[in-house]
Order: sequence, then C-alpha cells, then structure tokens
Amino acid sequence: MKPDRLSIVFLAVPLLIADIACTFLVPCPRSVSCIPNLVQPMNWVSFATVAGLVLGSAVLIWACMLSITVVSTSRRLSQLGRVHLTDDLVELARMVGVTRIASIDNGTAVAFCAGAFRPTVFVSPGLLLRLGPDEVAAVLIHEQDHLLRREPLRRMCAQASARLLFFLPVVSWWAKEVVSSGELRADRAALDRVGPKPLARALWALRSEAAFAGGAAFAGLAQLRVAQLLGDPVPRSRPPLRILGISAIRLSLAFGLIACLATVVHVP
Ligand SMILES: [Zn+2]
Repeated sequence: MKPDRLSIVFLAVPLLIADIACTFLVPCPRSVSCIPNLVQPMNWVSFATVAGLVLGSAVLIWACMLSITVVSTSRRLSQLGRVHLTDDLVELARMVGVTRIASIDNGTAVAFCAGAFRPTVFVSPGLLLRLGPDEVAAVLIHEQDHLLRREPLRRMCAQASARLLFFLPVVSWWAKEVVSSGELRADRAALDRVGPKPLARALWALRSEAAFAGGAAFAGLAQLRVAQLLGDPVPRSRPPLRILGISAIRLSLAFGLIACLATVVHVP
C-alpha cells in the first residue's frame, strides 16, 4: 500500500471517527460539536493546553528522530576508512576554498558532504583519476556550498519532519524541495566560478555515483540540474494543489481531534 493510503487508513480515518464520536457519542459537556464549542473562552484555554501538549510531544518525538539519524550517520561516517589526501587534492581544495575535507578509502570516484554539526567534504582518491582539475574544482565548490549551508543537517531536519508529519504530504514535498533547491544552489555556486562545461562533465562522469545516506552527494537530480546548466527553465517549486488539498483536509481533522480532546478534558 502507498504511504498516502496508509496514512488515510491509520490516521485520517481514526481522526474522523474520533471527531464524530466526540461530537455525537462521547458525553460532550454541551452536547454540541467540539469545534463550535471553542467559542467559549474557557474552552480556548483547554484547547491551548491540549494543543500545547500535542505540540510539545511532537517536538520531543521530532528531536528523538533527528538524534537517531545524527548518531547513526556519524557512526557510519566513523566507519569509513580514511586515507591521506593527495597533494593535488589538497592544492585544489585550498584553491577553491574548501574549509574541511577528508579523503576516504573508496575504489570509485565519490564526493559528498556529510556530518550534522561538523560538516566535512569527503572525496575519494579516484576523483582525480576520473575527472580533470577543472571538474574536480567544480565538484569541490559544489560540496563546499553544501558545507557552508550545513546541508546534511538541513536535510536531516527536513526528513525527520516528513517522517513525523507523514500524514501531511505537503511536508514530504517540502523535504524533497529542500534537497533539490540545495543541489541547484550548489551548482550555481560552481557555475559562477568555473562555468558550465567542467560542471556538466563532472555531473556526467559521476552520474552513477552511489549516495551516502545522510549526506549531500554530488550526483543526483541530474535532470533538474542539467536543465539549469543548459539555461532551460527550471520548474517552479510550488506544491501541487492536490497535495495542498489533502494536507489541508488532514490538518483540519487533526485540529478537530485536538478540539474534541479539549472539550472532553475541559472541567467547567
Ligand atoms: Zn550536491
């Protein structure tokens, strides 16, 4: 079953049933709908209390989810074998202004930025075997932009939000948007300094590069990035109406449930 349908079954339907139950079945203090009940000032106090508790719990769960991702990513990073940076890579990194770089023991040509609180650009020695100096410079500038914007942490936060609020498709849409806008921005940084050709060649050469989970790899989103490289119009980043509509309905159901709980727990 698709995540959208799952969320309908596991969240939207119970929310709807709970809302109806609170309105008609549970002995409501005023025997009327929960949401209209909120016009009473005291009910707003109950609503604010319940909403605060729900929000506080959500923030706590979000922080736990983020911490788990941060810890597992840093553990996987620490397990990567490290090798000395070659002089050529050190020189290129210094030339383009990379502030933190490490070389990993990997037989292929890879480049990514990873690390939640201390983002670092990771490259493999194979990068210089596969790419020319201009192309490596384009890759390093791209990754340095990820480093400066703390892209790995930014993406982890967005992914944790999307997982927590899985029933709101607009949040998942936004999490993907964080990734694509970060990639396009990093490409523009490289374009400004080395021009389109080295960047295009690097993108082509590393198109099948495996991504490091929890990091911001150089490859990925090739179609969108090539469109930007060619000067073609990049699709506008607006959530589709369908996604906005579904999210609004589910949000109103969640609001209804909170209003219902507020009415039930209210002590006159
Ligand atoms: Zn990237």
